[in-house]
Amino acid sequence: MSFENFNLDPNIMQGVRAQGYTEPTPIQIQAIPPIMQGRDIIGLAQTGTGKTAAFLLPVMDRLLKLPRGRIGAAVISPTRELAEQTCEAIDALGQYTGLKSISIYGGVGMEQQIRRLRSGVDIIVACPGRLLDHIWKSTIDLSFVEMLVIDEADRMFDMGFLPDIRSILRCLVRPRQTMLFSATMPPDIRRLVQEALRIPVTVQIGHAAPADTVSHSIYPVKQHLKIKLLSAVLRSFETDSVLVFTRTKHRADRVALQLKRSGFRATALHGDLAQNRRQAALDDFRDGTVKILVATDIAARGIDVLSISHVINVDMPESVDAYTHRIGRTGRIDQKGDALTFVTAADADLVKEIEKVLKTPLERRKLQGFDYDAPVPAVSEEGSQRRSGFGGRRTQPQRAAGTRRR
Ligand code: AMP
Repeated sequence: MSFENFNLDPNIMQGVRAQGYTEPTPIQIQAIPPIMQGRDIIGLAQTGTGKTAAFLLPVMDRLLKLPRGRIGAAVISPTRELAEQTCEAIDALGQYTGLKSISIYGGVGMEQQIRRLRSGVDIIVACPGRLLDHIWKSTIDLSFVEMLVIDEADRMFDMGFLPDIRSILRCLVRPRQTMLFSATMPPDIRRLVQEALRIPVTVQIGHAAPADTVSHSIYPVKQHLKIKLLSAVLRSFETDSVLVFTRTKHRADRVALQLKRSGFRATALHGDLAQNRRQAALDDFRDGTVKILVATDIAARGIDVLSISHVINVDMPESVDAYTHRIGRTGRIDQKGDALTFVTAADADLVKEIEKVLKTPLERRKLQGFDYDAPVPAVSEEGSQRRSGFGGRRTQPQRAAGTRRR
């Protein structure tokens, strides 16, 4: 199968070639033809499968047949990072099309967005809250939107955005083509599908299991030794870019600080950072200035750095889905990746569930020469007075404060 089979506009094909894509990925093979036919689709695929190009290529192809300078397509994204990345993909794949795109999200002034909107755009990539602000202020005209993409719908639901999505849907004209992408299909997303899509085609890329180019291993360790083990692992492994996950924003800051103190080029990424600092952290990670990014689940959503060699879960994720989302950041298209997870006794049940989804036992590993029996210090490795027990206290999943509505 080659991209030529899709009959895409030659200017789009030029963009595809410029990106170095030689063959379509499985989700692209399945999704592009029905989208080109105008069908509604449900894409069950996680990040890393090529899903962005799967919808962007046919959407851009259709936009080229429509009058320019008015919004013909809208992509709704859960986070600013994903919105930015989708816009970057439009800029890259659509570089020979002359199509204009804009990302719309909160935390930055509205004025500049309004000016860009007035100057005429063909496709918007928006986070729900700020898009509604524009709708209510009548600073955006959605009356020509023929194509709507709801990206990472399950994450949108996690973040409490479904009411906003429904409000946006009410502002869009019908008939329109609707494409919904989600790694999982919880009941609330099924309901949304029934409300918003017409006789959709479902395209699915396997189970929501991570790419098989990823090797998974777990490192049993006591809670108070996790950051020490992280430093030791980082010293003893040959790594390229490393994404480290923690359960809370506070801990992401702490871990990044400890790593910096130990001489690593590390930085934290989470929803409490101002937009410019989040962007700077991502840019530094992408261009290799920073080698280790310490992130929470939501902040890391949509991070697209092709050279991530290792994902290290310092804290176990909340669920199997969260695990597959995290691991989806490495082992992307034909690249090898390693996923290391530090586990305490409290994580045993989740480890079993992950093994069930992966259909293979996770390899238990020990780092040679590491002192697994070092005593609990009077002041914990996070700099606070220690609490008793090693259980790895469970906290509520983080929400990206910056992306939630009011
Ligand atoms: P996504 O799942 O959309 O986040 O895409 C993951 C990565 O795969 C991105 O860096 C894309 O640029 C890249 N990609 C998408 N389609 C292809 C393809 N057909 N061949 C090679 N790389 C691709």
